[in-house]
Amino acid sequence: MKKNLKITQQIIDSIHSVIGTKDSNLHEPVFNGNEWLYLKECLDSTYVSSVGEFVNKFEQSLVDLTGAKYAIALVNGTAAIHLALVLADVKEGDEVLAPALTFVATANAITYLKATPHFIDNDEDTLGVDPKKLYEYLNKFTKQKDGKCINIQTNKIIKAVVPTHVFGHPCKIDEIVDVANKFNIIVIEDAAESIGSYYKNKHTGTFGLMGILSFNGNKTITTGGGGAILTNNQEIAKSAKHLSTTAKLAHKWDYFHDEVGFNYRLPNINAALGCAQLEQLPKLLKSKRILFEKYEDKISLLKGVRLFKEPSDCKSNYWLQTLLLDIPNKNKRDEILSLTNKNGLMTRPAWILMHKLKQFTSNPRMNLSCAESIVERVINIPSSSNLIGKY
Ligand SMILES: *Cc1c(COP(=O)(O)O)cnc(C)c1O
Repeated sequence: MKKNLKITQQIIDSIHSVIGTKDSNLHEPVFNGNEWLYLKECLDSTYVSSVGEFVNKFEQSLVDLTGAKYAIALVNGTAAIHLALVLADVKEGDEVLAPALTFVATANAITYLKATPHFIDNDEDTLGVDPKKLYEYLNKFTKQKDGKCINIQTNKIIKAVVPTHVFGHPCKIDEIVDVANKFNIIVIEDAAESIGSYYKNKHTGTFGLMGILSFNGNKTITTGGGGAILTNNQEIAKSAKHLSTTAKLAHKWDYFHDEVGFNYRLPNINAALGCAQLEQLPKLLKSKRILFEKYEDKISLLKGVRLFKEPSDCKSNYWLQTLLLDIPNKNKRDEILSLTNKNGLMTRPAWILMHKLKQFTSNPRMNLSCAESIVERVINIPSSSNLIGKY
C-alpha cells in the first residue's frame, strides 16, 4: 500500500513540477489569434451558415496543411466518418474493421449504416491498429470472392477498415494500407486527433482513400464543433460536398435534390473560428512538444511508468500526453486517476474498449489482448497548449 502511494505521489509531484499547482483541465482550447476578428467579420457579413467565404478558406487551408488534394468541411468528426463510410459504399450487412481501442464515434457511424463494427487489436508501439496481427487474421479468416473480402465465419463482406491515430500518435499507416490493399479493403483513416501529425513526413489522414479530422472543443484546434474529410480522389470529394449539402443541385431558385443527402456542411461561423485556429497551429504544436519534453524530463526519472513518445519515423502533435504504466503497476491506475483528480489535475483513462460496451459485446472480433493490456495502463494527463508560457 505504501509503495502504491509512492508512485502515485511521484506522478503528482512530477506533473506539478512541470505545470505548477493550479487546477488543470485535460485539454482546453486556446484563442490567442484572430478568432474574435474573424468571428466579427463573419457576423457582419450575415453569412453564418453553410455558405460563405470562411468555409472555402478553411478547406483551402486544410489542403495546404495536409497535402491532401481535397478537404470537405463538415459539422463534426462523427459525421465525417459516417459520410466517408457512405462514400466507401458501406452497405447494410457489411462489416467494417475498427480498433477496439478508439473513440466510440467509429463504431457508432458504422452502425448508423446497419453495417457491423468488427474489432481488431491495437499495438503497444503506436497504440494504433497492429498491421501484422491484422494480416495474419485476414489471411486465416477471410477469402476473396469477385474482388471482395469475405469473412468466412459470417459470410459477410469486409468493406473497409478505420484505423485511428490514437491520442495524435501516427499508427503504422503505410503497413496497414498495404495489408488492406492486399485484401481489397478500403482504408478510411481516423485522424480526428492527429492534425499536425506526420508519418514519414506525410500528414496523417492522407494515406487511405479518405481521412477524417475533428475540430471538437477538446482537440488540438477547434471550430466549436466541426470535422472534415480529406481525399485525393476528385469524384469522392465532389460527392462528399454534394451529399453533405442535402444533395441539392445548383439552381437559381429550384429545390432539386438528386439523392438522399445529409445536412452535414460546416457552418461559416464555425469555419471563421477554424481559420483563426489553423493560423495558430504551428505555435500550438510547438508548445505541446515543449510540454512533452518537460514532462519527459521528470517522468523518465520514475520507475514503473513511462511517458508515451512519438513512434519512430513519426512526428506527433502530442494532442494528449499519455502515461503508460508498466504491467506490474496496472493495478495502480485507478488510484492514480483518483488522487490526481483530487489534486486538481484532470486525468483520464483511455476509452472503455468497444467490445466491452453492451451495444457491441456480441460483435465479431479478433483476439484483443494488446488493447486489453494497454487500456489497463493508460492515463492521459493535462495536455493543453497553454500550460506552459503563453501557449
Ligand atoms: C473526437 C473524435 C472523433 C469524433 O469527432 P467529433 O467531432 O467529436 O464527432 C472520432 N474519432 C476519434 C478518435 C476522436 O477522438
